[in-house]
Amino acid sequence: MVQHVLVTGGAGYIGAHACKVLRAAGFVPVAFDNLSTGWKDAVRFGPLVQGDLMNRADIDAALAEYKPVAVMHFAALSLVGESMKDPGLYWRVNVNGALNLLEATVAAGIRNFVFSSTCATYGDQDGVVLDEATPQRPINAYGASKLAIEEMVRNFGAAHDLRHVIFRYFNVAGADPEGEVGEQHRPETHLIPLMLDAVAGKRPALTVFGTDYPTRDGTCIRDYVHVMDLVDAHVLGLRWLLDGGEDRVFCLGTGSGFSVHEVIEHSRAVTNREVPIVIGDRRPGDAVQLVSGSESAIRDLGWNPARSTLRDMIGDAWNWAGKPGFAE
Ligand code: UDP
Repeated sequence: MVQHVLVTGGAGYIGAHACKVLRAAGFVPVAFDNLSTGWKDAVRFGPLVQGDLMNRADIDAALAEYKPVAVMHFAALSLVGESMKDPGLYWRVNVNGALNLLEATVAAGIRNFVFSSTCATYGDQDGVVLDEATPQRPINAYGASKLAIEEMVRNFGAAHDLRHVIFRYFNVAGADPEGEVGEQHRPETHLIPLMLDAVAGKRPALTVFGTDYPTRDGTCIRDYVHVMDLVDAHVLGLRWLLDGGEDRVFCLGTGSGFSVHEVIEHSRAVTNREVPIVIGDRRPGDAVQLVSGSESAIRDLGWNPARSTLRDMIGDAWNWAGKPGFAE
């Protein structure tokens, strides 16, 4: 029997990679995307429903047509800097979109929900390793909107028996090593693709956002996780729910933090080329350090983030950067 999974944001970076591994695991991923930041061309592993989470009828129609066994909710605005400039946009789109989706999911009788949350819900925590029990105190509107949705998912879980897994992502990087899908944003704001663009001469230089942070070299520290490892965890989380597992939160990172300067160093080793950089100001909303404790996912889901080395993440991103990318 065909088991469909509704993947909101299935035409985006992480959603498209999730569709690939869902397909490989025997599910049929139905990408639900308004194509505001996603790419039609990235939907390669199942049908595309072009719809908008702000429009409840679009969601109802997709759920009625495909009767998915689960919903995976990736679709969201996700840029820290943008969220600081226009918090209303983040509250409106992320929170209202999730509310419509949760109400439609429950109304359609679907019982399994996987939600993409973020380490941005933690805020600045003075150097501690962040795990599922760490209190959440977001310092930007993006993180605040995601924390609100986590609460919403828990409320719907309690009231409507919607079984759920919430993943809190650390910094997702890399690309499908087979090059079928990869990272492509418009505009690009993320460190590794911007750095590789500078290496390839597609932009003049990478701006390092602040070198006066209280870290070992003055730049922010992040925990980078390979997108393929991240989406593998989603398939494990889905199976966990389908096998009757309890509601859970899992952090998805590696437990190792790297500074912006250290990422640049690794890039030199992978590409054999210099990274042109300029030093800029701090970016508003950036936490000093975000590093995960990921033991729970490894222990309980059997997750194995084996590709999450900087060498593999930068190498796979570099491989993708040499391809034509998704057509407009
Ligand atoms: N960063 C940077 N220059 C850039 C983009 C990002 O120095 O052009 C830094 C940013 O301040 C943060 C890290 O790289 O410390 C990762 O940023 P990114 O936007 O990739 O992910 P985020 O941590 O915001 O989710």
